[in-house]
Amino acid sequence: QPHPRSAKLLRALVLSPMLLVAQSQAFQFTSRRWLNLQEYQSKKLMSDYGVRVQRFFVADSANEALQADKRLNAKEIVLKAQILAGGRGKGVFNSGLKGGLAEQMIGYNLATKQTPKGGVKVNKVIVAEALDIARETYLAILMDRSCNGPMLVGSPQGGVDIEELVASNPELIFKEQIGIFEGIKDSQAQRMAENLGFLGPLKNQAADQIKKLYNVFLKVDPSQVEVNPFSETPEGQVVCFDAKINFDDNAEFPQKNIFAMDNKSENEPIENEAARYDLKHIGLDGNIACFVNGAGLAMATCDIIFLNGGKPANFLDLGGSVKEAQVYQAFKLLTADPKVEAILLSIFGGIVNCAIIANGITKACRELELKVPMMVRLEGTNVQEAQSILSSSGLPITSTIDLEDAARKAVDNVSKK
Ligand code: GDP
Ligand code: MN
Repeated sequence: QPHPRSAKLLRALVLSPMLLVAQSQAFQFTSRRWLNLQEYQSKKLMSDYGVRVQRFFVADSANEALQADKRLNAKEIVLKAQILAGGRGKGVFNSGLKGGLAEQMIGYNLATKQTPKGGVKVNKVIVAEALDIARETYLAILMDRSCNGPMLVGSPQGGVDIEELVASNPELIFKEQIGIFEGIKDSQAQRMAENLGFLGPLKNQAADQIKKLYNVFLKVDPSQVEVNPFSETPEGQVVCFDAKINFDDNAEFPQKNIFAMDNKSENEPIENEAARYDLKHIGLDGNIACFVNGAGLAMATCDIIFLNGGKPANFLDLGGSVKEAQVYQAFKLLTADPKVEAILLSIFGGIVNCAIIANGITKACRELELKVPMMVRLEGTNVQEAQSILSSSGLPITSTIDLEDAARKAVDNVSKK
């Protein structure tokens, strides 16, 4: 029985992008593979392609917010904190504010059910013209693995947590598989508009917005475009009130301008540092650092630590092609983390040569003056030579080819939590 935490990681890895975004915030924030645009960036892109959003300006100070308010000259305005997590409407600021004034938003942390407990610092707000909402629906376009192409997903019940709706009322979720070569058909856009409950002249308007959103999807190569709520106003306009556009690194090359918008300010510093060296770092709350190659091995390693009564402090994934410089940087990151009391290195040398890793390890340990005990489980190509490099190094390294044994020894070497 896997421990819930690693079960969560496993789910995060095997789920489709849409669910992944909702279920594992940790995952998307930590990986270089993901770019999640802020709402204002997503809305700017969408409006460039003719999608209807409210008039808005972006402000990063209370004064700018005031100016924006003047320029909008709207009957009523809405201020929206620009953080990646959803659930902002019901979030709480550490200034005490619940939904309101710009000076009590910018520079403060906003906690929602999708953020870490302490919340996320708000650096920018959208100042938008407030419109009345008559009805909220949900609309998303995403790359769907099961059909190897784009999928339109919608529900007449929007504004709500879509994952909960998928579980409680699956009959309220509508899908249209789109042929990547044919593009979205009029009939598909019309059917979706109807399924979303747009009536009379609103049906054509909604279908038109859906086609324009699909055009955005086609032009900017995202893994997902999500509009929740996709709404109608009492005046009879279909408007995208919220927007989330996410990318994976396949889009990095063709979409350089978009990737240049990523300021990574919402990442943990350690995660940005890891990403610079092509390492994936996931922070957990125990005291045993896991140093692995490959996500599957990361989960197996975390599980085996749990099964032996320990808790992982993190895992750092070297990925497929291991380079010596990477090994060094990985150690630097792990040894700089004060909660790490032992390191469990678990590498399977399928393509990589274990001796190269052993050399990387000993070099890094000497230069960084490794203070905590380290258990090394190396298996695979050239493992014998690797073992002898480690055992003759004179460093506090316990080497084994058995993962269970290595995990047990790591747990024995840390204080119990
Ligand atoms: P999220 O909770 O972080 O996803 O933020 P949203 O932008 O989706 O806003 C949450 C909810 O606030 C929406 O579902 C709407 O009900 C409401 N909302 C957002 N903007 C407006 C607006 O301009 N006018 C009105 N009437 N409601 C809004
Ligand atoms: Mn929303």
